[in-house]
Amino acid sequence: MKRIFSGIQPTGEVHIGNYLGAIQNWVSLIDKYDCIYCIVDYHAITIDFESHLMESRILETAIVNISCGLDPERCSLFVQSHVPEHTELAWIFNCITPIGELERMTQFKDKSKQHRHNINMGLLDYPVLQAADILIYKAHFVPVGEDQYQHVELTREIARKFNRRFGEVFPEPQVLSPDTPKILGLDGKKKMSKSLNNYLGLTEPEDEIWEKLRKAVTDEARKRRADPGNPDICNIFTIHGGFGSREDLEAIDRGCREATIGCVDHKRMLFEDMMAHLAPIRKKITELRGNIDYVKEVLENGASRCKAIAVEVMDEVKAKTGLRAVKPN
Ligand code: ADP
Repeated sequence: MKRIFSGIQPTGEVHIGNYLGAIQNWVSLIDKYDCIYCIVDYHAITIDFESHLMESRILETAIVNISCGLDPERCSLFVQSHVPEHTELAWIFNCITPIGELERMTQFKDKSKQHRHNINMGLLDYPVLQAADILIYKAHFVPVGEDQYQHVELTREIARKFNRRFGEVFPEPQVLSPDTPKILGLDGKKKMSKSLNNYLGLTEPEDEIWEKLRKAVTDEARKRRADPGNPDICNIFTIHGGFGSREDLEAIDRGCREATIGCVDHKRMLFEDMMAHLAPIRKKITELRGNIDYVKEVLENGASRCKAIAVEVMDEVKAKTGLRAVKPN
């Protein structure tokens, strides 16, 4: 079975961009591949974070992912820092990655603007750690949203470079695109992101979700209800694509272009479809919040399985790079 790796940051509430752009895709892959899914806490600390919230955020991220369908019997779910080989391999990759490659990464540029007061080394190095996350398991495929394509391309370059210089160890992993590769935030401009506060959270109270959705940006050229709208540039349509039936979406598309359906009408329809879709997930989340011991056990089992793979690959890497010669017995 070919292997898959993907990660999610425990930086805050899991949102519908994560769900449609990543988690739903992850769930659909668990029986076809050997799937490794990771809560990337070392990535999360590259921006400002509150240490006293970290543990609960990690557990909550696990709870939401399991509830969305990442069945721990059929895939591995674990926390990045529980397998230190990730950072060990990242160090070796650091030494073959030119700084210029990292400075040109779009995510680094965006986050440097958002966090001007905290442009730290980890933020620049983020994609190298991500390459190590993927390659420490020799993963073949990486199911991620569009925002991460550039990082996967860099991972391929790092794998190529390592193999050329030290001998063949790593496959060149490929992106597995989801049906909805990018969801914009409620501002309709930037990507929906936990760190931008422009999201709809999976576990937010219903009335708050509706309040946020009600104010969300649609087709800005449609000033009045009588104006025809353009679904091709409306973010509400993109989001609805993840929750509505094809027939309903076609009818709404027509209604919007003919101005028989207004933006608020459409938002109400999206809200209802979305809440119906999320109801069983939200129920499971409440259940698991009451069973933290089980969640911790899932993460421990996931880490011990992944650790066994990572140690072997790290040994191979050390042998190829000449570092194993001095390993104590
Ligand atoms: P965030 O940017 O909100 O912190 P993460 O970095 O934890 O999210 O991303 C976890 C996964 O969710 C990645 O595969 C990423 O590509 C995907 N993802 C994040 N935001 C979006 C979005 N707005 N649309 C589609 N996919 C997304």
